[in-house]
Amino acid sequence: MKLIGRRQFLKTSFSGLALATLPVISFSQSNPNIVVIGAGAAGLSAMAELNRRGISAVCIEGMNRIGGRCYTDNTTFGVPADHGAHWLHGFSKNQIAEFGKKHRDKFRIYNEPDYSVVYDGKTKVSGDALWDLYKKIKKIRRSIGADEPLINYIPEKLKKNSWFDTVHKIVDDARDLGNFSPYDDNSNWNDPGNGNGLCREGYGTLLAYYRKDVPVKLNTIVSEIRWDGKGVQVVTNKGTISAKACIVTTSVGVLKAEKIKFTPALRPKKYEAFNGISMTISNRVLMQLKKKFYRKFKNDTHFYTKCNSNGAKSPKTFYGLLKMSGTNVSLFGTSGQFSKDLENKGSEAMIDFVLSDLKSTFGSKFYEKYFIKAIATGWANNPFTLGAYSGAIPGKASLRHELKQPVGDRIFFAGEATAGAFSTVHGADRSGIRAVTDLYISPALD
Ligand SMILES: Cc1cc2nc3c(=O)[nH]c(=O)nc-3n(C[C@H](O)[C@H](O)[C@H](O)COP(=O)(O)OP(=O)(O)OC[C@H]3O[C@@H](n4cnc5c(N)ncnc54)[C@H](O)[C@@H]3O)c2cc1C
Repeated sequence: MKLIGRRQFLKTSFSGLALATLPVISFSQSNPNIVVIGAGAAGLSAMAELNRRGISAVCIEGMNRIGGRCYTDNTTFGVPADHGAHWLHGFSKNQIAEFGKKHRDKFRIYNEPDYSVVYDGKTKVSGDALWDLYKKIKKIRRSIGADEPLINYIPEKLKKNSWFDTVHKIVDDARDLGNFSPYDDNSNWNDPGNGNGLCREGYGTLLAYYRKDVPVKLNTIVSEIRWDGKGVQVVTNKGTISAKACIVTTSVGVLKAEKIKFTPALRPKKYEAFNGISMTISNRVLMQLKKKFYRKFKNDTHFYTKCNSNGAKSPKTFYGLLKMSGTNVSLFGTSGQFSKDLENKGSEAMIDFVLSDLKSTFGSKFYEKYFIKAIATGWANNPFTLGAYSGAIPGKASLRHELKQPVGDRIFFAGEATAGAFSTVHGADRSGIRAVTDLYISPALD
């Protein structure tokens, strides 16, 4: 998200040398046994679990807010708008959704309705051709038993279908099909729940309330974890924290970029995993439109247009979710390399891209007639995420297991990439508890 203020964090990166001048900060007063790094879904759940078990701990977060990639903006439009996670996946057994349902006075949690509209240029079409192709590709996706890109398995005839570029972006899960191995899902995915739910107040608002009792130290950026002596020393922009162990919950994007240096270096396989389980790219343009635009649409309607990128490796298109939870805000999502290239051009270019497509569907006066306000996210360049969510590079799916392996009985790993329901909020939440269990059964606290 191109929010004023976030960029300031980019500047902060501490080398080992600079540390000499940093004080040992007041964290030592509380003498934590454990440092939890990151206050997204995983870090918050790890910290909650440590508190529940009565283990002294501190949770530190680089940004000026909690939630990480699950964040609801309640100010820009005056109604909730999720910048990252929006759908409550694995809905039938999603523990965060269950929590929300128990707090009916605060949250409206509901099954996602099955509404969609499909446009071919200015013409609204049945969508049969699109869904027919989608089902064929989904079937291929499910059947693949080798760790290879999905594109290799799609017959030329299907690639020539005029809806292929549109379907490409529906099935790609934020990676282009040439870079997407369904084997990662087919072999690693594990979630007892199914279906999708929605939360009218936004997933970020729900997560923040779910973890409202968890203490977090914000604006505290970790640059190094030293584990050459006893326990760990966690080096931050506010000083160094000594503890028996730490739980790292940052994205694989952050780990791959070595924003956090490990001293001594971790075993090579660990870095292989940070590189192999890479970050996908997904961005949002959130757009507030006048009420008259929405007259023909039901709440939470999926919106697709025919895209013709001539079989490009990363088709230039987006999907939409109109009238989110009955508000006048709609979500337009881009993904893959195209999304990254567009993000690099800036938020105006992202908004213009969506507007120009909406004009070709709803008429050249779309902007004048319906537009109020829009913002665009920038997850690929956000230094605290460096991407949207984890996805194995073809051939690397087996490395997912390595991600969650502890190091030296004192560095533990959580976060969505380590979860059975990877790439999700509820998976990240479960991973925090799993990491505390790993820690508990290790000699770390002895
Ligand atoms: C556009 C988009 C759409 C998505 N859609 C969905 C969806 O619909 N449903 C769903 O379930 N999931 C969705 N996801 C994925 C979901 O948001 C993530 O899987 C989940 O929120 C990850 O939680 P986490 O705790 O593992 O990581 P994070 O949320 O990334 O938390 C890690 C925290 O560590 C902090 N951090 C990073 N570096 C440092 C440092 N050096 N020092 C201190 N702190 C640091 C970060 O600021 C962050 O707060 C989406 C994500 C994106 C980006």
